[in-house]
Amino acid sequence: MSADAMAGKVALVTGGARGIGRAICLALAREGTVIAALDVNGPGAEETATLARELGVRALGVLADVSDHDAVKSALARIRNELGDPAIVVCNAGIAGEPALFRDETKAAWKRQFEVHVDGAFHSIHETLHPMLQSGWGRIVIISSIAARLGWRGAASYAAAKGALLGLMRTLALECAGKGITVNAVLPGIIETEMSRTALVKVREKLEAALPMKRVGRPEDIANAVAFLCSERAAYVTGQCISPNGGMWMG
Ligand code: NAD
Repeated sequence: MSADAMAGKVALVTGGARGIGRAICLALAREGTVIAALDVNGPGAEETATLARELGVRALGVLADVSDHDAVKSALARIRNELGDPAIVVCNAGIAGEPALFRDETKAAWKRQFEVHVDGAFHSIHETLHPMLQSGWGRIVIISSIAARLGWRGAASYAAAKGALLGLMRTLALECAGKGITVNAVLPGIIETEMSRTALVKVREKLEAALPMKRVGRPEDIANAVAFLCSERAAYVTGQCISPNGGMWMG
């Protein structure tokens, strides 16, 4: 079987230091993709890069805050210099924030959600799109959340930011259609990572009993969907939402 077109391409994965982002890096590395793991957690990103290299691909861990445009520009200059232009971008970096009902939400918390998720996606995609358009091949995957579809009590700003990403995803998909670039979103259900760990301690048993598949998700459940969307097998898939959620929501 010949290698997929994604093999040898450079993938920028934001939030690549741990959890879902690390699983995405490793799933793409197994397909032969060169990995740039970007994160505010520099040592974690380096560790992911080491794990990717052990799978036989070139890889780099890069320290940057996605909400800081200049930091993303500098990180990309280094990635281009050491690995080449990213042809795959996975906007995964995210924060849960402190739970608060909307009536108690602070403007600062609201703003930070949009800075990390929405501005972060703008910076990551805007800085990589032109070379993708020139080369005529690209894959953009945005990690949204089931919260964007269901709403999430105590997480209005998170759900709003994740919903905004879906508008961006569909518009970009339209603008890139026919140019060899697909743009899709993955909407995880409840996945066991550092982000969800505290909440899961309290409600795991009840939650798993209620979930149709009777288990919370693993980072690999999301990474597998991302790897498919980045592959040649998904060349005709664009503007779509895939939600690995164990049957929690069937849309
Ligand atoms: P996580 O907290 O384990 O990992 C998030 C990563 O993003 C961390 O490495 C963190 O350092 C990095 N990050 C945070 N802010 C950043 C910034 N400003 N710049 C660069 N990196 C930054 O969480 P996770 O569960 O792996 O989440 C990954 C993505 O999946 C997030 O976008 C999250 O919203 C989404 N998601 C997670 C779940 C879940 O249940 N875990 C559900 C739905 C969606």
